[in-house]
Amino acid sequence: MSEKIKAFAAAEAGAALQPFEFDPGELGKDEVEIRVSHCGICHSDLSMRNNDWGMTEYPFVGGHEAIGEIVALGENAKGLSVGDKVGLGWNARSCGHCRQCLSGYQVNCPELVGTIVARHGGFADRVRCNWDWAIKLPDGLDPTKAGPLFCGGITVFNPFVQLDIKPTDKVGVIGIGGLGHLALQFADKWGCEVTAFTSDLSKTDELKALGADHVVNSRDDAELEKLKGKFDMVLSTVNVSLNWPKYMDALAPKGHLHIVGATLDPISVMSFNLISGQKAVSGTATGSQAVVAKMLEFCARHNIETVTENYKMSQINEAFEHLESGKARYRIVLENDF
Ligand code: NAP
Ligand code: ZN
Ligand code: ZN
Repeated sequence: MSEKIKAFAAAEAGAALQPFEFDPGELGKDEVEIRVSHCGICHSDLSMRNNDWGMTEYPFVGGHEAIGEIVALGENAKGLSVGDKVGLGWNARSCGHCRQCLSGYQVNCPELVGTIVARHGGFADRVRCNWDWAIKLPDGLDPTKAGPLFCGGITVFNPFVQLDIKPTDKVGVIGIGGLGHLALQFADKWGCEVTAFTSDLSKTDELKALGADHVVNSRDDAELEKLKGKFDMVLSTVNVSLNWPKYMDALAPKGHLHIVGATLDPISVMSFNLISGQKAVSGTATGSQAVVAKMLEFCARHNIETVTENYKMSQINEAFEHLESGKARYRIVLENDF
């Protein structure tokens, strides 16, 4: 029997997180074990705890923005050593042999396994994944702030790569929470003209400091109306419905309304919104390992950092409530105090 992992788990949908121990079994040949030092809380942890997406298994141990040190390696693990500082995000395993994996699109692997989907994540003293999803932290990144890059960060960095965004492009970001505040920094350092769409204009000065050139009320139709034809990409990180036709109108020809926020209601678009101006509604999930590594280098080079609020892991319920209240500025990171 291996040493038990200490974690926090929800026993059922919406329940408070309770101390929970489990035997992780023998380490798989392709796996590594990470001793968690810090773990961010993503809105997806909240949605999963509440079973909003109908795929949560209980007891549920969330946490998919983990930073820590490799403490054990399976015999097939490559390129890593015990003691390496790594991060683990939403994805814990992909097959390694399908066409998507072999093309560098592991994130589209049909056998992709989520770190907190039917397995236990990083709100724990240790967490496991396949060796190729434990990604080394480059020098120059603060491990107390780097966790959120592994889910929130890569989710808003990947669209710049996939949509081939240019420094001359105009980019809008809707919803400035954990994902959005990193998106503003990426877009600014990428060279773009950046507009932050927020429902809370009291954040305006902070959003400008993060790189926004303009700040617009995301729920004000009259303000959106003034932006007709402007954006090459509008990146939505909200999990609510907004006036999508108005955002389509705000796109320039060939522009994308790019969805990463898990809005549960259908997004309706008129065919002529797509036809005239050759526009698109698109989406992406997190990002493959090579893109994660690229993002980490980009962050180190441009001093991009998560703006964090810090809690001990033992304060996890307080931290969840704070995220749920919508007041987190801008990402909560838990420090392991098991
Ligand atoms: P978050 O920190 O809670 O931020 C969400 C932001 O949305 C809020 O800060 C708020 O920004 C805006 N918002 C919330 N309620 C709103 C309302 N009623 N009207 C208008 N705006 C509202 O969440 P997050 O961790 O960044 O995650 C955002 C979404 O992305 C979640 O749905 C999450 O599950 C999803 N996600 C997807 C992926 C992926 O792979 N595609 C990966 C990670 C997360 P303002 O205050 O500025 O309006
Ligand atoms: Zn996430
Ligand atoms: Zn695959």
